[in-house]
Amino acid sequence: MQRIAARQKSWEFRQFLGLRRLYSPAQNTSACLSGNDAGIIPAMPAFDYTPPPYTGPGAEEIMRKRREFLSPSMFCFYKKPVNVVHGKMQYLFDDNGRRYLDAFGGIATVNCGHCHPDVVRAIVDQTKSLQHSTILYLNHAIADFAEALASKLPGDLKVVFFTNSGTEANELAMMMARLYTGCHDIISLRNAYHGNAAGTMAATAQCNWKFNVVQSGVHHALNPDPYRGLFGADGEKYAHDIQDLIHFGTSGHVAAFISEAIQGVGGIVELAPGYLPAVYNSIREAGGLCIADEVQSGFARVGSHFWGFEAHGVIPDIVTMAKGIGNGIPLGAVVTTPEVAEVLTRRCYFNTFGGNPVCTAAGHAVLKVIEKENLQENAHIVGSYLKKRLSDLKSKHEIIGDVRGRGLMLGVELVTDRQLKTPAKVEILQVMDQMKGTCICISL
Ligand code: PLP
Repeated sequence: MQRIAARQKSWEFRQFLGLRRLYSPAQNTSACLSGNDAGIIPAMPAFDYTPPPYTGPGAEEIMRKRREFLSPSMFCFYKKPVNVVHGKMQYLFDDNGRRYLDAFGGIATVNCGHCHPDVVRAIVDQTKSLQHSTILYLNHAIADFAEALASKLPGDLKVVFFTNSGTEANELAMMMARLYTGCHDIISLRNAYHGNAAGTMAATAQCNWKFNVVQSGVHHALNPDPYRGLFGADGEKYAHDIQDLIHFGTSGHVAAFISEAIQGVGGIVELAPGYLPAVYNSIREAGGLCIADEVQSGFARVGSHFWGFEAHGVIPDIVTMAKGIGNGIPLGAVVTTPEVAEVLTRRCYFNTFGGNPVCTAAGHAVLKVIEKENLQENAHIVGSYLKKRLSDLKSKHEIIGDVRGRGLMLGVELVTDRQLKTPAKVEILQVMDQMKGTCICISL
């Protein structure tokens, strides 16, 4: 943790919650105090599940192996890292059976709840019948899921290419845009995160996530950040910067614009209203395609809509997704129009595990659970309530500089000075440690 603290420029605190209902009416929601944490942490509501006793290695043994055998780049949350051994819906359990409300969802991934029985069943059933074959043979799992996924997207967005991660999906989307337009220049936003391979690291615009290696062809526009941005919440003003970048930084033609609707790694920054429609117009006038990175904001998390971009009234040319698509199974996808999809036929393009039957069966089950359990509506209702309560806290506590986001993609930014918006670096670590279940992130 100290190493991260030394490396980063500023801290923000963001809070995610899985899409499950927090409390059922039958559950006891009284906030009594217990144990060593009396006076600090309210007791959990009742929950009808006890994990089996854990008999595996403890935290120290795992830490020793990590130190010796795993990349030193791997870091843990909290002064005393949690050994998470079980998950059940919105809860995680440590090696002592202690239960935590998971406000992080494995980085906005476990949208249906941990080990959701329908998703587990789909994975087990498919694993028993066929685990892997590649797309060189026919199998119904990939085709059924592609059809179901396409039905969740607007317009002509109906051709799916499956990947294993968000990075792969964005790499592919950017390459397709370059092939389709014959241009190399891509515009992304400052404070964006799009992945960690060559192209996506170029599109990422936070120095903490960028290594000093060649990254070509991406221009980073002013971030339409309503809290810290130059023009507050006036989206159209920020959009002029895109026109400037096109005019002064490119030949006048671009391959694409790529953005998240709510920047996740960047600290839950929702793009200022009016920004995306203006930018999409400028990009299309310059011959480019518009790519929506829905890796964090997709699959009902934002509550008001199924996709984050829908809240801005735009229709992208390419949509990329991962994380919530598989509820924890490695899966990503690029969805685009038949016309754009055609570019990949110019050469052989292949991904060994992309579209794997087990992963796509899981993805299909996730879509069904979101629908069956009205998880989008739940994210809207629970998220709006949580946002309201967090905003109430803001009016009581000077240290809360901003409460933002939508649905269950919410962020709380702590500052030591509201005027100067100075990141509360020390305090955030304290809050995180006490809450154990929140997430820090690093921003410019
Ligand atoms: N895009 C966004 C918006 C992300 O938040 C992330 C990861 O956090 C990625 C892309 C990269 O996804 P992955 O880590 O699955 O490669």
